Amino acid sequence: MADKVIGIDIGGTNLRGALVDREGNILKRMKILSEADQGINKLIDNLAGFIKDISEGESVYDIGIGIPGIIDSKEGIITEAPNILNVSDYPLRSVLDKKLGSDINIVIENDANSAALGEWWMGAAKEVNSMIMITMGTGIGGGIILDDKLWTGASGMAGEIGHITIYPDGAKCNCGNYGCLESYASATAIRRMVHEGLEDESLSTSLRESTKNVEIEDIPLIVMEAASSGDEFSLSIWHQVGVAMGIGIASLVNLLNIEMIVIGGGVSNAWDLFIDRAYSEARKRAFRAPMERASIGRGSLKDDAGILGAAYLAHQGCK
Ligand SMILES: [Zn+2]
Repeated sequence: MADKVIGIDIGGTNLRGALVDREGNILKRMKILSEADQGINKLIDNLAGFIKDISEGESVYDIGIGIPGIIDSKEGIITEAPNILNVSDYPLRSVLDKKLGSDINIVIENDANSAALGEWWMGAAKEVNSMIMITMGTGIGGGIILDDKLWTGASGMAGEIGHITIYPDGAKCNCGNYGCLESYASATAIRRMVHEGLEDESLSTSLRESTKNVEIEDIPLIVMEAASSGDEFSLSIWHQVGVAMGIGIASLVNLLNIEMIVIGGGVSNAWDLFIDRAYSEARKRAFRAPMERASIGRGSLKDDAGILGAAYLAHQGCK
């Protein structure tokens, strides 16, 4: 293991990263705009500048990067990334090699997988050998750790927990399928439920005014506040989120008998409004023994989960 590595988490809006030692301590952190919506070349320029700035005065040769999308981590290729303009089968590692010099080792991984590794290495799942992380954000991300190793699957696509089917005839998902967990428990899902509810003009809810002209990522917080002040319609949305999460969790527990499920992401800030329902739904559906064995907890690292997971991979990646 190298003494220090850089862990980076690329988001649709921000590019965040840190210098991390082998014990998982963050020594220095930085955040800039990713400008991913302006295309891959802009993002690469920002990324290269970021790496130079954060490693200034340090000898750092190993970098881990978490990216939202389908990643071929063996080949260092971004296969698909809906949040980055004009990207398909993009050879990120070789492009960065050319920009930064080939003495730099770069590991890339899906951002949800990085977050799972981060929580397992330094966060809520520090004490367990098997865990699943569910990230409730604009979409739903997932990462699976089995026997202390990230399970990436035969072609690197494992852990797409957001796209397990909850309701076969349910709402359409961004992936093209119907009734995925992501269509019932993400910020996108909450926005859909709000819109559909408001189509009934007789429905009385404070959301009619408070959700006008707001960004998608702000909607869960507004629905959370409305539910906390007793708005019935908002409470019913969190009820649906809880049921869907419970159905998904039951399948995961039955399938993998993991020790822990860690839930993170912005939508999970409404924890108290959906978790009891999720528990009771999961208990109803899963086998008793694996359900009792699996603890369910909140992620403890917040935005640092992805950074630390990427740093862990960078530490592992070097001799
Ligand atoms: Zn889907």
